[in-house]
Amino acid sequence: MANTQEIWLPGTECVAKYEFRNSTADDLAFGKGEIITIVASTKDPNWYKAKNSNGRVGMIPANFVKKRESVKLHMMPWFHGKISREGAEELLKELTEGLFLVRESVNFKGDYALCVCAGGKVEHYRIIYTDNKLTIDEDEHFDNLYQLVEHYERDADGLCSRLIKPLPKEGKQDFSVDKESFVKSGWSIDKRNINMGSTIGHGNFGDVLEGHYQGRKVAIKQLKDNTSAAQTFLKEASIMTTLRHKNLVSFLGLVIGDPLYIVLEYMSKGNLVDYLRSRGRSVITKPIQLNFASDIASGMAYLEEKNLAHRDLAARNILISEEDVAKVSDFGLARDVNLNTEVGKIPIKWTAPEALRKNNFSVKSDVWSYGILLWELYSYGRVPYPRVPLAEVLTHVEKGYRMEAPEGCPEFIYRIMRETWELNPQKRPSFKTILKIIASCKGSL
Ligand code: ADP
Repeated sequence: MANTQEIWLPGTECVAKYEFRNSTADDLAFGKGEIITIVASTKDPNWYKAKNSNGRVGMIPANFVKKRESVKLHMMPWFHGKISREGAEELLKELTEGLFLVRESVNFKGDYALCVCAGGKVEHYRIIYTDNKLTIDEDEHFDNLYQLVEHYERDADGLCSRLIKPLPKEGKQDFSVDKESFVKSGWSIDKRNINMGSTIGHGNFGDVLEGHYQGRKVAIKQLKDNTSAAQTFLKEASIMTTLRHKNLVSFLGLVIGDPLYIVLEYMSKGNLVDYLRSRGRSVITKPIQLNFASDIASGMAYLEEKNLAHRDLAARNILISEEDVAKVSDFGLARDVNLNTEVGKIPIKWTAPEALRKNNFSVKSDVWSYGILLWELYSYGRVPYPRVPLAEVLTHVEKGYRMEAPEGCPEFIYRIMRETWELNPQKRPSFKTILKIIASCKGSL
């Protein structure tokens, strides 16, 4: 019997639940944990034609594999970020029994507070972050806030009241993700199946290594699982499980442990800025530049369709494959709203005015950044706004200052740049439109 009523369509990705040893030459053998892609269904619902990561095609028994799902996220509407004790009390002033919220501790970095209404007042419980776990009473320990809230929703367990009604945060809400969900949905990779190589880059979270996994070269981002950045790292990974496009760097899986590893497709030519600077005009021809511009717009149009803002689109976050395909990376990072207000973290020269002023990040603010990225591309990796001090960029731009076209930049590309730098986000073109303009101009080079 097949393990599912549903018919898997070509392209469906599956994870092997067990090892499969082929009994005929037509069968595709695989090991436990291998990723197998369905090529076609057959007359027999128990068997599929499929291929492995090396491109070998053969027949597989459906009940040896399971479909890979995207990782489930848990919304945390009750999480209000960094607000003060007084701020929390003001929000909870209704004082309904069991009304609650969670805030970040202002005084103790990395800690949180659970604020619960009971008996006509608000109780504040300190949530301590220790040994990579969260706890209120040093008795029960949790991996994340979601699990903690779930526990006290079931039972007061020593608190003044059971958590009954969350007070939802207005505006953008946060979410959490469990490590176990990566295992359940088929995205966890056994560390023993990975060969680690040397360091190839340095990221926000830690070093990036090259390595081998299932016969292919991969890039591995690692993070020590002893900081609260782990949640951010897991969120980046979980969003990546929902996205698949030829112009987005693909996510292959996560190694759960300490350190945590995100395994990504390997992009042999590194990031676009270094690529542009090291090769220069003689190697990077007009058609190559235009292909990059079109690849990036295509990846971004996919994110646009999903209404997902990247927030950090820049040439340093574009990676180039062996075949010269440009792919957007770092797109999963649902950046913490609080992070954005930290001075020095925001890439000022790439960020749209409304995002800088009002924290208003959107697909349209990505369009602005795309214009800056085009400027980097056609100036062979120069830093935008040369000669304008960082502190003056925003005011200059708001007064109408715009960069000139880089030397040799085609007219129509500069026209796109100017349209992306409209102060009014609504007047900026969509990525879909940009893609069309580029496609229609490809022949005219
Ligand atoms: P972070 O998002 O943590 O800042 P990045 O994704 O920017 O980290 O990675 C830092 C550097 O590591 C990149 O500039 C690039 O040189 C290298 N790198 C990252 N991912 C890959 C990859 N998939 N293939 C090849 N090199 C990569």
